[in-house]
Amino acid sequence: MYIRKSHQRLLDLCDNKTSFTKTFERFIAEKEKPHNLIIKSKGNHLWCTFCHHNFVAQAKVNGEIKCPNCKQKLLVKSNRLTYYEFKDNVQFLDKVENTLILRTFEICSCYSKNKVTHHLTEFMRTIIDDNKSTDYLSNHLNSFLGYLHIKYSIEFTHWRKSSSSYNCLGITAMICPYNIKSVLKGTKLEYSGLEKLISRLDYIYFLDYYYIAHIPSFEILIKMKLYQLSLDANKFYKGTSFQNVFGVSKTFYQFMKRYDLNYKQLEVLRLIQKEDITLINNLVNIHDLDKLSEYVDLEEAYNKVLCKTNCSEYEYLDYLRMAKTLQYPMNNKRVLYPKNLKKAHDKVTKIYKVVQNEMIDKQIQERLKELNKMTYKNSKYVIYAAPSVASLLDESKQMNNCIKSYCEDYGLGYKDLYFMRKLDNPSKSLVSVEVRNNQIVQARIYDNDPPNKEQWKFLNKWQSKVLSKA
Ligand SMILES: [Zn+2]
Repeated sequence: MYIRKSHQRLLDLCDNKTSFTKTFERFIAEKEKPHNLIIKSKGNHLWCTFCHHNFVAQAKVNGEIKCPNCKQKLLVKSNRLTYYEFKDNVQFLDKVENTLILRTFEICSCYSKNKVTHHLTEFMRTIIDDNKSTDYLSNHLNSFLGYLHIKYSIEFTHWRKSSSSYNCLGITAMICPYNIKSVLKGTKLEYSGLEKLISRLDYIYFLDYYYIAHIPSFEILIKMKLYQLSLDANKFYKGTSFQNVFGVSKTFYQFMKRYDLNYKQLEVLRLIQKEDITLINNLVNIHDLDKLSEYVDLEEAYNKVLCKTNCSEYEYLDYLRMAKTLQYPMNNKRVLYPKNLKKAHDKVTKIYKVVQNEMIDKQIQERLKELNKMTYKNSKYVIYAAPSVASLLDESKQMNNCIKSYCEDYGLGYKDLYFMRKLDNPSKSLVSVEVRNNQIVQARIYDNDPPNKEQWKFLNKWQSKVLSKA
């Protein structure tokens, strides 16, 4: 793919930088250090591949142990191991002629013959323009079926433009934090504090953070040391007071800072208004907390109901809503915090259904005043409007269909439901019929099969003689 002249120039300038800055070298050394092993041989004899220190200690193969000399915690392997490989992605934010270039490298460290060799391969450069970024890939990078592979053994020859629509190919990496502040000098992010956030993180997708840092509230959140909240900077607008911006009183600021609350935790804090990090963390993964809080005290709800296994917040909310509709005393703790939620839910559901059916029945009775005028018969068949909820439940059962699920719509008048039956056997279901705007839209016999010719003939007559004239 064609590379823009200005970009080719920047890539060339980058190539010609012969050495990295000291800060990046320091960063690489830090990231290479854990790419070492503790080699275990007979009699608990251990050897550190980083500092070559010998020592004796109890250590399990594939476990980790800290080398007493270099203090690095390392993976333990047996001395029978012939080859082992570590890989990490690291990034360096560079600036060439005032353009930011994110340079992505792979550190591949290979252990073999009692020696660890590190290979640093730059395989991607992302040129960051104002609102857009473009990826360039080196010939080291091979992509096979979406799997990226970096060949460190070959010579660098050229850069090519990435054909992927994703920036940075979705690659996450550890970015060198030490030079970020100086690189951002003179850019819009000079005072954003982005470097403070970056230094607290491990593997990240840098461009996400880079763009978030442009949001006006980001800088303020970083200054307030609310690092986690800065990741959701777009959710905070400039307000006239702390209360306005965060939804809690300023007295909570120290608490928010101490635990570096994230946005989800802040949402819980808004509801409970209490400095209790344990409770917040317990509640943070429960859905619909705001709706639950309309009925119950969240702390009590957690301790008495939601902390139990198999207690779903959805079931709880469903229970509370039904209880309220049924006019249960919503200040009674036994109602609000049932000892056995499942049992209480099932009980209320039963009562609720009965009450609901009674309501629908009333609606149906009202509707029948008109619908009864549609009754029609010949010498063999009769068709009439479904007279009640119970009759619809019975029809569903007899016909093995789902007509009962239309109860509510029928009561509300969204659709009309009719039973066609034989005159000499009126209690036996024959055809269930759905009508809308005085038009038959569905007719079904047992098991959702279509009616036969004779039945259709009767239905068509009913349509033309009665329904169409209504
Ligand atoms: Zn060591």
